[in-house]
Amino acid sequence: MEIKIAEFAGFCFGVKRAMDVAWKKLHENSGTAIYSLGPLIHNKQAVERYQQEGLKIADSVEEVEDGSVVIIRSHGVALSVYDELMSKNVEIIDATCPFVSKIQKIVSKDYAQGKAIIIVGDPQHPEVIGINGWCENGAVIIKELGDLDNMEWDKTKEYSVVVQTTMNSDGYESIQNKLEEMLPSVVFNNTICSATCERQEASRKLSEKVELMIVIGGLHSSNTRKLAQVCSNNCKTMHIETKDDLDVEEICSYSTIGITAGASTPEWIIEETVEYIKEADENRR
Ligand code: SF4
Repeated sequence: MEIKIAEFAGFCFGVKRAMDVAWKKLHENSGTAIYSLGPLIHNKQAVERYQQEGLKIADSVEEVEDGSVVIIRSHGVALSVYDELMSKNVEIIDATCPFVSKIQKIVSKDYAQGKAIIIVGDPQHPEVIGINGWCENGAVIIKELGDLDNMEWDKTKEYSVVVQTTMNSDGYESIQNKLEEMLPSVVFNNTICSATCERQEASRKLSEKVELMIVIGGLHSSNTRKLAQVCSNNCKTMHIETKDDLDVEEICSYSTIGITAGASTPEWIIEETVEYIKEADENRR
């Protein structure tokens, strides 16, 4: 069996930065409670490891203790959340990915100039919810091309479009083309993150050369799900969270296996999976 790992797989720059900053804070032993607003990343196993080190997860600002430390994860938050946190006298550790901060700034500036904001992305995703909070939650959010059917537009307005960093580039392109036809005055800011493009492209290339692709990452991780979608166009694809989700007999029926992982998948989970497959292959000989 031949196992190939995609050129770009696992933690991206923004996630690694947030994880490192949280780890450092957890080991300062200050005795102060440390929260992340929402799970630090979309990876259950990594979050559990951080919880064992003392990290608490708050689903909302109300759950945060006064005077504690609060880590804002790489997805970022709405502008109003900073004010809410400051009113609780907490120490804010802002681990918003710089690429997400850039989108928030574009939205804030364009909205202040009177433009209407369009966000292309998943309305349920924390990054999109956060970005919308930089234009008083007034953005039109478009998840897929079909959302544009029968949509009414105020054509006297100027529109500014931003994109969720983990959006699939092909999906965005088709939405951009349609919006271009529909709106007389629109500025497009393609804010898809290069880490996302690199992972999608590397996974796509690898999926053309193997019989089976294993995509490792949280089942709720948007960027991991998109990697699985890209790979499934070319070969049989399995989306797993850890090696325990693999069916040994099934994987051993393939002679070339490609491995990729979402931007929130830790290196140790990738390594464990590769070792597990290698062992399974050796044991069947
Ligand atoms: S995928 Fe890109 S934007 Fe999102 S956290 Fe990673 S580096 Fe930042």
